[in-house]
Amino acid sequence: SGSADENDVVVIGGGPGGYVAAIKAAQLGLKTTCIEKRGTLGGTCLNVGCIPSKALLHSSHMFHEATHSFASHGVKFSQVEIDLPAMMAQKDKAVSGLTKGIEGLLKKNKVNYVKGYGKFVSPSEVSVDTIEGGNTVVKGKNIIIATGSDVKSLPGITIDEKKIVSSTGALSLTEIPKKLVVIGAGYIGLEMGSVWGRLGSEVTVVEFASDIVPTMDSEVRKQFQRMLEKQKMKFKLKTKVVGVDTSGDGVKLTLEPAAGGEQSTLEADVVLVSAGRTPFTAGLGLEKLGIETDKVGRITVDKRFMTSVPGVFAIGDVIPGPMLAHKAEEDGVACVEFIAGKEGHVDYDLVPGVVYTHPEVASVGKTEEQVKTMGVEYRVGKFPFMANSRAKAIDDAEGLVKILAEKETDKILGVHIMAPNAGELIHEAVLALQYGASSEDIARTCHAHPTMSEAVKEAAMATYDKPIHM
Ligand code: FAD
Repeated sequence: SGSADENDVVVIGGGPGGYVAAIKAAQLGLKTTCIEKRGTLGGTCLNVGCIPSKALLHSSHMFHEATHSFASHGVKFSQVEIDLPAMMAQKDKAVSGLTKGIEGLLKKNKVNYVKGYGKFVSPSEVSVDTIEGGNTVVKGKNIIIATGSDVKSLPGITIDEKKIVSSTGALSLTEIPKKLVVIGAGYIGLEMGSVWGRLGSEVTVVEFASDIVPTMDSEVRKQFQRMLEKQKMKFKLKTKVVGVDTSGDGVKLTLEPAAGGEQSTLEADVVLVSAGRTPFTAGLGLEKLGIETDKVGRITVDKRFMTSVPGVFAIGDVIPGPMLAHKAEEDGVACVEFIAGKEGHVDYDLVPGVVYTHPEVASVGKTEEQVKTMGVEYRVGKFPFMANSRAKAIDDAEGLVKILAEKETDKILGVHIMAPNAGELIHEAVLALQYGASSEDIARTCHAHPTMSEAVKEAAMATYDKPIHM
């Protein structure tokens, strides 16, 4: 210890949690090393998650618009084609440009970047099997575990990334499947199902639970599901997959009602398993150090992100909380602020969630069901995009804004938006909740016309008074 090569902070994992923590640490004047085994930075999010999925969602949306909407806007052409390799190349270009950008940011901030697989030797030493084939030991006064998560399979189902794919395989299919079965109706399954559905696949989503995206406000969810059904996505809810046969050309699935009962079969060319993600700590040596994990393998931490071993911290998907990139980033900043002797803060109740389908669904704070169980008296303000001039002008008016506010104080408790750009619209609501605003605060804030954001203002008006345009 005390040697010249010792770091103040060593980060294991270069995903949104890890690389953000490393940059923040360096900005705070701490000597920092970031270890990443993948060979590229950005983690799951940038390499096989948020970014490539949004690239394909955009490309497939363009195709869908061209075939379904252009003519009604008076834009006509004789033929539209899909060039799947070109679509994939555009996605890959976006990913590689961004991963290199992060490498540049680490350099700019003087973060030492080690490419290789990190394992604990002690609470202050990490042995790295480097990608080039050597081994090096990295020492640090503080070590942050940011090893993220991995895809989860289901019992009896083997992911081969060809016929049975995870989200990673679904981001690089080389052919458009005729029939795609998605197991799991979470946001990843619905986003990837939307991509391939728009490109021509017949998509069936099989879900064990009685609802899609269980965390969503149920009124919004109902409208959302109806909208996906209008886009020809089929749902088999309260259904479990009990058998998978890949011996033929495609895949034959055996289904059974969740509660038991008569079996049925379903055929697919490709099956996407999107049944959740699991914390990734393989080979790290947590047991050796005695770092505690919970029942599902997440590393348990205190308010300062410290594990059961002093000096060792953990952030992002590998700890409890929403498994989202922006949550991992917030964890990373707060954790490093604590290490630097400052205060850090992340409010997991105010982490926005977005499903990037079309329209998008975004939310922050409590659902109506949650508000009911809280037992507070509340008011609901709603405004449909059918009554929003901008949405009508562009002929993309499906969706609504729903605001829940405490009756007595008008304090906003939750906001739910379904709209083409809901993922952008939600941030005014996130800020409002962060500042403890009332719905009247939003209603009395001047919003530019004509914008989709006016629907947020009108829903706020509807919460304690009346909207103008309804
Ligand atoms: P990760 O991003 O998983 O990064 C961990 C990194 O650590 C990895 O690169 C891994 O290689 C490395 N690593 C692990 N162990 C070691 C080791 N021992 N030594 C060295 N390196 C190691 N979230 C959103 O917010 N918005 C979205 O739109 C979104 N879309 C998604 C779409 C898909 C298809 C998927 C799969 C996920 C999506 N997510 C999205 C979730 C998001 O990707 C994760 O929440 C986020 O990446 C978590 O960040 P992290 O830094 O904790 O972990």
